[in-house]
Parts: sequence; C-alpha cells; structure tokens
Amino acid sequence: MKQKVYITRKLPDEIVDRMREKYEVRMWEEEEIPVPREVLEKEIEPVDGLFCLLTEKIDQPLLENAKNLKVVANMAVGYNNIDVDEARARGVVVTNTPGVLTETTADLTFALLMATARRIPEASEYLRHGKWETWSPMQLTGQDVHGATLGIIGLGRIGEAVARRAKGFNMNVLYHNRSRHHEAEEALDLQYVEFDELLKESDFVCVLTPLTKETENMIGREQLAKMKKTAILINTARGGIVNEDALYDALKNNEIWAAGLDVFVKEPVSVKHRLLTLPNLVTIPHIGSASIQTRMKMAEVAAMNLMCVLDGEEAPNKIRE
Ligand code: NAP
Repeated sequence: MKQKVYITRKLPDEIVDRMREKYEVRMWEEEEIPVPREVLEKEIEPVDGLFCLLTEKIDQPLLENAKNLKVVANMAVGYNNIDVDEARARGVVVTNTPGVLTETTADLTFALLMATARRIPEASEYLRHGKWETWSPMQLTGQDVHGATLGIIGLGRIGEAVARRAKGFNMNVLYHNRSRHHEAEEALDLQYVEFDELLKESDFVCVLTPLTKETENMIGREQLAKMKKTAILINTARGGIVNEDALYDALKNNEIWAAGLDVFVKEPVSVKHRLLTLPNLVTIPHIGSASIQTRMKMAEVAAMNLMCVLDGEEAPNKIRE
C-alpha cells in the first residue's frame, strides 16, 4: 500500500506529480486560501507525510490526530509555526528549506531598506495623486544609504547576504548574534558589537533572527528608545520579534525616523492595523522569498525532504534544535 501525503496548498504540477508517482497524494486545491483548520484536522489523520506552509499551525492537538505521521515538511526556512518539540517527542521529523531563499530574501531586505530610506512608495503615490507641482530643495528627502552604518541583528545566512550587499554600498556593518561569526567578520569586514551598542550606533537596524521565545519582542520600547532619531528599522524576519505597539509609538512620536516591515504578528495584517496609518512606515506583504525561481526551489526542497523521510533516508534539512 502506498504511503499517504497531504499538501496544504496548490503546488505546481511538476512537483506534485513527482510525489504522486510514489505516494497517494491529496492536496488542498486553493492557491490563495489556506486550508481551514477543521479540514486539516481531518486530512492529517491517515497521512504519513505532511507538506505545509507557514500559514499552518502544526501544534500538539493537530499532531495528536496524526498517528501515522512521519514527516512535516515546511516550505519555509522559519518554522515557528511548528511545535518542533512535540513533533520530536512523537518521532515526527520536521524539515525546512534553508539556503535556497537566502539571496532572494537578502535582495528584498535591501530593497525594503532602500525604499524606506528614500521614501519610494510615498514618492510614487505623491506623483500619482497629482501632488508634484514644483521642485523644492527638501521635497521628499530621505536618508542616505551609502556610507551609513548598518546593524544586523542575526547574522546568519540571510544576514550575511545582506552584509555583502551593504558592503557594495560602502556601508559600515555592525552585527550582533549570540555567538561571534569570525569568518564572516574577516571576509566581509564586519564588526561584532553588543546589542545596545548596535542599537545606539546604527543608522539602519535590520532584524534577521528566527522568531523564538528568546527573540520575541526583542525590539520593544526600551530598544527603540536607544536608537537614533534618524534611524530606520527593517524587519524581514518574523512579526513578533519587533513589538508592534512600541513600534507604532516610536514612529508616531518620531523617536525613530522610519521602519520597513515585510512581516507582522498576525498575517495577513488587517488594513485597519494602526501601523498602516503612519506615513513613515513602508510595508509589504511577507514577500521576502517571493521570486518565481526561489519559490519553485523552495517547493522542490520541501518535497525532497518529505520524500527522503518517507523513503527511509535522512532528510537533508532535518531540524535539530
Ligand atoms: P539562520 O542562518 O539560522 O540565521 C539566523 C541568525 O540569527 C543566526 O546567525 C543566529 O546566530 C541568530 N540568532 C538566533 N537567535 C538569536 C538571538 N537570540 N539573538 C541574536 N541573534 C540570534 O537563518 P536565515 O536563513 O538567515 O533566516 C533567518 C530568519 O529569516 C528565518 O528564521 C525566518 O524566520 C526569516 N525569513 C523571512 C523571510 C521572509 O519572507 N520575510 C524569508 C526567509 C527567512 P546565533 O545562533 O549565533 O545567535
């Protein structure tokens, strides 16, 4: 009897077909709408392998329903949507898709940094709404990126790729992690600093850690107060690392100059969210890894991880925290 696989969102045919050759595959056929929780609860019951996205919460009650489950293959590098400890306790392997999205997410992070610094969305709206009637010396002026100091919190794969881009803009790059990355420091001429120093010295603070118990609300009122009044905060990691109430107040009261967010605590964010009323916030809908090429690679890697486990092999991207 073939092993059973459930896929929580419509994927390109070529990837699904590869799985169909070996397993009995069922799939939630919608591209834009996530599988409802009650549907997933039923679908997961008989399956050996689950292919999911970060929109699905894979928690204890769900895993309780999945007596045959051997693998949860997440199509993302972050896996804060999955209770990894609970899965491990049940002998379920959890996998992610590191590496293949690094450069694409770094591109987007840098694009957001540039767009925020130079007020690109606001300037575009200004023109489209017929406000461009003259040219004046300080019209739509932003902050310089070249030569500025960038502080990266979480210098991992993506952080390093952002640092490389920053060096091309002649930026001075500081970073803070729990451990020092000597090789990257040397190769890219980066400086390791304590967290508070990074906040105080940086013109741009870029958050690139995973969302964990330790990093949740890592940037709150106290941290925002330490930043320069001219500083720009960029978060392309996960919502929840930056406290949204504290960020709202800091932006509203001009305690920092601007912020660029790709991620929110609750996604999709409500259009009524008060952060969206602020002119000094640039925001996009969690599109860090959203290039055609990279999303295809992520789906391929997630499928490969799933197939390895179901075929009794070691998955290349097994999470071992
Ligand atoms: P990674 O290689 O694991 O890098 C994460 C870095 O964060 C590590 O170097 C780690 O260094 C550091 N870190 C972890 N906890 C920390 C803490 N408490 N304080 C300071 N530094 C800490 O991961 P990655 O591939 O670069 O991805 C990073 C995150 O980006 C992912 O977890 C994901 O949530 C997010 N992401 C978002 C998008 C998007 O679409 N917006 C796309 C891809 C990824 P130490 O262990 O030395 O502390």
